[in-house]
Amino acid sequence: MPKVTVVNVGYRSTNYWVVSAGTTRLLVDLGWPGTMGMMRANLKRMDVPIEEIRYALATHYHIDHAGLGQELKEAGVPLLVTEVQVSAIPLMKTWVKPQDRYVEITLDDNVTISCAESRSVLERIGIRGEIVHTPGHSDDSVSLLLDDGSVFTGDLTHPEGIGVEDATVVAASWRSLRERGATRIYPGHGPVRQMDSVTASHDGQ
Ligand SMILES: [Zn+2]
Repeated sequence: MPKVTVVNVGYRSTNYWVVSAGTTRLLVDLGWPGTMGMMRANLKRMDVPIEEIRYALATHYHIDHAGLGQELKEAGVPLLVTEVQVSAIPLMKTWVKPQDRYVEITLDDNVTISCAESRSVLERIGIRGEIVHTPGHSDDSVSLLLDDGSVFTGDLTHPEGIGVEDATVVAASWRSLRERGATRIYPGHGPVRQMDSVTASHDGQ
């Protein structure tokens, strides 16, 4: 399999990651509502042809991470949804205002899989890794963990930044990622970090 590369096509303080295995690509997190023009421009600027994106995967269904889900489908990019996320999708419309120009995400035309199936689904597009359920920031949060240790965590909260989240749930998600081999964190906001910076001070091991 070709070596996997990662580029950021994000904007408005949010990272949208394109994971590429040659010309086979996966988009992780999907743009704010009403920003399809900006997404297309950033993909073009980073030399990512939209027709090479095999799946769009939202780490969770908040508007800054999944706002373009439907428009990407309409542009020919299938939406990859894990079963733990399905019930969160209809709630998206309750968080937007008319001026956001959110296009509601339909449920009947997604590629819906379990996390357990994710490795074989990703393998078919040349990407070695898995999708891991990592609740904490939200119940529907998942992370994409590649076999090279890269992990795309969306908004999984830094243990020192806990607010309304349940610290035990957040810690369990980080522990699960570390045990599965995560080393390098590609978050939904902010710079790439090493896994050590998140867990070392936290769980006292
Ligand atoms: Zn969020």
